[in-house]
Amino acid sequence: MLDFGSLLLATALSGACLSGTLVAIWLTARQSRFVLTMAVGILLLVSHVIAFWLYGRDASPWLAQAMLALLVAGFFVVFTSSDQYIERGWAKPAALPVAAVIVLTVVVTAAGFDGVGFVIAYLAVTGILVMTAAAFWTSTEVDRRVLAPVSLLTGSSAISFALCAFVIVQQKQWVLGSVPRNWAEDLNTVVVVACMTALGALTISFHHLRTQNRLTEETLTDPLTGLMNRRALNSLHGDTGFGRQMALAMVDLDHFKRTNDVFGHAVGDRVLQRFADVVRRYAGDGIEVFRLGGEEFAIVISGVSALDAYEILRKIGASFGAEVVATKLGLLRSTVSIGVCLGDDDIRRLEQMLLGADAALYAAKRAGRNRVATAETPGSDTYREPELLIA
Ligand code: GH3
Ligand code: MG
Ligand code: MG
Repeated sequence: MLDFGSLLLATALSGACLSGTLVAIWLTARQSRFVLTMAVGILLLVSHVIAFWLYGRDASPWLAQAMLALLVAGFFVVFTSSDQYIERGWAKPAALPVAAVIVLTVVVTAAGFDGVGFVIAYLAVTGILVMTAAAFWTSTEVDRRVLAPVSLLTGSSAISFALCAFVIVQQKQWVLGSVPRNWAEDLNTVVVVACMTALGALTISFHHLRTQNRLTEETLTDPLTGLMNRRALNSLHGDTGFGRQMALAMVDLDHFKRTNDVFGHAVGDRVLQRFADVVRRYAGDGIEVFRLGGEEFAIVISGVSALDAYEILRKIGASFGAEVVATKLGLLRSTVSIGVCLGDDDIRRLEQMLLGADAALYAAKRAGRNRVATAETPGSDTYREPELLIA
């Protein structure tokens, strides 16, 4: 049979090591604040376990108060860490009520009703764990795969704390004068040991998951404009075809080399960013924008007729043409040429669409730039003469 005191001390030691490891991880990745918060939460729980152990040897009232306050505070900080990770914003509004519960626990325990203090603290922890589970379950941001371990952890811990409270109430032990010892407490000790280890492991995997997601996002994003890049275009549309009600447009800034030569590269960059700002106003709702490289962009439009696709592109081109960029040499206006290729019933591949849009773009350039042109052949119902974007 396990010696209860040694088990508590071993738990405290492993928790302290876990907390130290989390601090070390945080030191190498400061943007993951939730890792540091979890380290603090686990350290508070470790302090609770030590106080619990000390209280078992010397039942001084102040130790009871400190131990219960540390228990509730520890779990609340653990909840705060989860809240920082899933960005629900629930921890701040919950802080005051939790602080009030801690004060109530301390006051009741100081008044001699340590049994009642235990019940309040255990129920508060149950509530915090339920809140943690609810925050994860209702968050749309969370990867569904992490829900299973989180539910198991919060669910079993919540049940075990609720059981501890239940046994004290059932036995009407309003005044204990020592640590409660019953089957629920024994079960709870095992759960808390497992819980601390699992919390640490989960926090480290959350950290890796987030780092991985950030890296994936970075590889799909163009750093200058913040738009999606060519890799994103391939990954989103490389395998699926372009059917009717879809269009792909290639957009190229006109005389952009001259812009760079006359106004400088920095101004050129600002013009590219301005174009991105303009298209972003239209993006969403079936309109995706990608920077292919240099001053070339692709726009994928889904769920609209050919006529509407032209109209959207014409609006984007005209809006950009109306923009003015202030430079040291005076105001700068730029235009774009757009080539559009429409999807078809017999599903066109991305490469085909890009070739078609590129040919149409070339036609728009040849027709004098500042135009939208189509890859359709003259005579078909969707053909349009290259149309001037802005006068
Ligand atoms: P056209 O109207 O025929 O498209 O002529 P253009 O001058 O726009 O085309 P060209 O391909 O000759 O020039 C593109 C220029 O874009 C050349 C290159 O220096 C510039 N460029 C490419 N990437 C960037 C960038 O990230 N920032 C800046 N400022 N310029 C870039
Ligand atoms: Mg170009
Ligand atoms: Mg150009």
